[in-house]
Amino acid sequence: MSETIQTIFRYLHRNPELPAMEENTTNYICEILSRIDGIEIERFDTCYGLLAKLQGRQPGKKIVFRADIDALPIIEATNLEYKSQNNGVMHACGHDIHISVAIELARKLAEDRERFNGEVYFLFQPEEENALGAKKVLASKKLAGMDLTLSLHTNPGMNCGEIGIKSGPITANVDRFRIVVDGTGCHGAQPQNGRDPIVAASAIVMALQSIVSRNVNPAERAVVSVTHFDGGKDWNIIPAQVILEGTVRTFDAQTRTMVKEQIEHISTSVAEAYGTRAAMEMTDGPIATNNDEKITVIAKDYGLKHGYAVVEGEQSMVGEDYAFIQREIPGLMVWLGVGKGPGLHNPEYVADARAIETGASYFAGLIQQLLNER
Ligand SMILES: [Zn+2]
Ligand SMILES: [Zn+2]
Repeated sequence: MSETIQTIFRYLHRNPELPAMEENTTNYICEILSRIDGIEIERFDTCYGLLAKLQGRQPGKKIVFRADIDALPIIEATNLEYKSQNNGVMHACGHDIHISVAIELARKLAEDRERFNGEVYFLFQPEEENALGAKKVLASKKLAGMDLTLSLHTNPGMNCGEIGIKSGPITANVDRFRIVVDGTGCHGAQPQNGRDPIVAASAIVMALQSIVSRNVNPAERAVVSVTHFDGGKDWNIIPAQVILEGTVRTFDAQTRTMVKEQIEHISTSVAEAYGTRAAMEMTDGPIATNNDEKITVIAKDYGLKHGYAVVEGEQSMVGEDYAFIQREIPGLMVWLGVGKGPGLHNPEYVADARAIETGASYFAGLIQQLLNER
């Protein structure tokens, strides 16, 4: 007899693993899947995770359903009886729900194998939280020739079982900046003898706040946050250098470029006005997801026709490396409501696991419709 999906979910929640360390999780998923009739499993050479395949009645379209499998370096602060037993690691982004939905989906579709054409692939993707997993999977070329991709993310701002769907981006372009402000250090009592980078960097932090309010089109959305200010060691010495770090979040490619240019322009100009020098370095993170318009319409219609609680999907400022898969294969990521409570990456995050059944049956029906339409 096979385990219930709730038992599987609890096991996964109890045994979270950090990005690039998902060995046990991968083996566990493999073991569960290998008991499903018709499933073929392939592993990756350069990372954990796996790709499972289910063949329908006749050749046809190829759909890949993606679930990420990693957890976060967070000490769990819930009172769940199935709370993490891997100290300091927690499934606080709901990837344990994603894995469970994908497993339950594989079971349902395996039973219905004679009722659809084409192939369904289940991608259990590692290393989402470090944004490397999707790129590694794509580099393996195992997704070559796929026609369409689907995925989901838990959303603790929605009621359990609600499905949030929206075309275009639902997660943001994530960029990270580092600004080094160089001045001239001196005695705290003799500022005239130096070039104070603390005052210059403070002015830069304040000036950066004008980008979103004065440069970004009010119809667009963006965030510029300075999150790290490092300078000085002692109370009576003006330091020679200050380092600032922060993040930029945008949805639109043009806005993204403009904001990056403004950060550089403002920091170098303001630094100069204070007699110091600033150099900016930008590191690109995940790009914004981009839900395919046509698939979005089909997915919404399917949900509404079959009695699911379909709502307009939220545009969140978080990052999601599924966007790299979507850049190569048209697709849709939906939000799955897991009950309202503490947010993603919060030590008190709790997902209502009843959402697994809703997610799995929704995708099972939607995938069959997509595969059978001409
Ligand atoms: Zn996350
Ligand atoms: Zn996540």
